[in-house]
Amino acid sequence: MSNPSILILAGDGIGPEVMGEVKKIITWYGDKRGLQFDVSEDLVGGSAYDVHGTPLHDDTMAKAQEADAVLLGAVGGPKYDVLDFSVKPERGLLRLRKEMDLYSNLRPAQCFDALADFSSLKKDVVAGLDIMIVRELTSGIYFGEPRGIITEGNERVGINTQRYTESEIARVARSAFELAKRRGNKVCSMEKANVMESGILWREVVQKIHDEEYPEVELSHMYADAGAMQLCRWPKQFDVIVTDNLFGDLLSDAAAMLTGSLGMLPSASLGAPMANGRPKALYEPVHGSAPDIAGQNKANPIACILSFAMALRYSFDKGDEATRLEQAVEKVLADGVRTADLLAGEGVTPVSTTEMGDKIVEAL
Ligand code: ATP
Ligand code: MG
Repeated sequence: MSNPSILILAGDGIGPEVMGEVKKIITWYGDKRGLQFDVSEDLVGGSAYDVHGTPLHDDTMAKAQEADAVLLGAVGGPKYDVLDFSVKPERGLLRLRKEMDLYSNLRPAQCFDALADFSSLKKDVVAGLDIMIVRELTSGIYFGEPRGIITEGNERVGINTQRYTESEIARVARSAFELAKRRGNKVCSMEKANVMESGILWREVVQKIHDEEYPEVELSHMYADAGAMQLCRWPKQFDVIVTDNLFGDLLSDAAAMLTGSLGMLPSASLGAPMANGRPKALYEPVHGSAPDIAGQNKANPIACILSFAMALRYSFDKGDEATRLEQAVEKVLADGVRTADLLAGEGVTPVSTTEMGDKIVEAL
């Protein structure tokens, strides 16, 4: 049997730097744990544009469709700001999400004890926090038709349409319930059923999937505005939150900041199962290409490393190995090792990207 395959798309800016540390970790798993992957690499974003004149070559797209998991670094940078919209680096990433049909975006908000002081909230509110936001990623108001800016009488009107089909809601709901079974067995669904028809349908369909397929999982419903408030007040009441594209965008950014630096936050985007049973999957740090620190060996590689941990868990069914990696990160942080973004000027010398990666390999 051939090894599971990983396609690495390191991208632009700090992407290749943080991905370099993930490669060390992949090598470690091969050498020490007998976990062999067929790893290939290709270009995405500005670096692909420089070579091919497009942010995602068709061959790369085809490879991504075949891969058991895609690991992506980051795309974009000031150099590409002048490009036409159709070839902007971000279009490469959007094309991957769209053509792989990655409808379920998983964003954990997890607070490592060593960084609890870093949160904008009180330490007891965030210490030990471990929640997962599941955001619908391929439909809703960002895609609904009609859309545009039209002229009506003597003024212009901006139009977007929130639109969800039952099957779009059902598939992301299943994804959330499956996750909950492997975690705290609790799902809270958020919408605005009080003022939106799409919200009424959302609530109905999530409830129906629950009752028919996942009655053993605890389900609650909340209006998204109240949910935002609860998320800031006492986030530990949640396990898995499932919500639409727009609310998920806002709620997951807010949840992210409960835990500290952008440099710590991983994500996974999952689609339908392939023939081998694994979901189509793309893993990437939440942060962008960080042009202000690119090329300086300063970026925090942890978000990208934790994204690989998610790949171990969700694509390769190696939850124990994922936990091993997360614990190695925790150990290094507990030892006081910090990249510059994790320091608030308290006289500790920051480590470089490569040193942080080495420390995590050592801890493994
Ligand atoms: P994008 O549009 O691609 O999301 P952005 O400008 O919104 O980009 P980032 O590129 O993520 O956001 O950068 C935001 C800030 O956070 C920058 O100051 C950057 O240096 C910092 N930052 C982002 N990622 C990291 C990281 N891994 N380590 C350290 N600092 C980071
Ligand atoms: Mg951004």
